[in-house]
Amino acid sequence: MAPPPDTIDKAYQIMKSSFIDALTNNAADALIAGEVRASNLLRIPLNFNLINSRAVSATLDYRQTLERFGGSDITVIGEDGIARRVFKPWLSDMIDADKERVGSIIQDAMKNGTVPEKELADVFAMQEHSAKLVAKVETKALYNKGTFERFNHERVQRGVWRSPGPHENPRDWHEEMDGKEFDLDDPVWAELDLPNCHHYCEPVINFGGNPE
Ligand SMILES: [Zn+2]
Repeated sequence: MAPPPDTIDKAYQIMKSSFIDALTNNAADALIAGEVRASNLLRIPLNFNLINSRAVSATLDYRQTLERFGGSDITVIGEDGIARRVFKPWLSDMIDADKERVGSIIQDAMKNGTVPEKELADVFAMQEHSAKLVAKVETKALYNKGTFERFNHERVQRGVWRSPGPHENPRDWHEEMDGKEFDLDDPVWAELDLPNCHHYCEPVINFGGNPE
């Protein structure tokens, strides 16, 4: 017997909120790790109260965006080849696509009088796979966000693009940028959020300035 449609809706609501919980738990850790990394690069002592309170408010923002708008800011490469962070409702899209697939598997099974055990298992395996990928990309972006927030807070204005040394499948032009200096608000830094990018920003410390 097919489940009534709102059973599926309810199941997906539960899935959505547990996914948001998992991402949000990760978010605080990633933001803090990013801030810690930035402090180490700046050789500035850590103020954990400050870092924690910023991570808490950034995590709340992140959670609200996921809940209300079903997505977050992600890095996309525009037609002009420039990376930008733009909002995408990837969570809502993912759930809608998935729900549609599950709905049609159940409908087909009803028509044919079969039990769609294998087909459903495949959908859920794929769903788990994409959830893991999403969590990885999101964690990286939040880590970078924490790092850059810390740089901004310390009035860092420029950074040097750095390669971590030989690593697997680097983007060629990312490797070519090793040692180049950019303003911290240059869109180039959004590239660091791309999947499997291991490059990083080394802050340019202006010893003549008056950091707070
Ligand atoms: Zn890279």
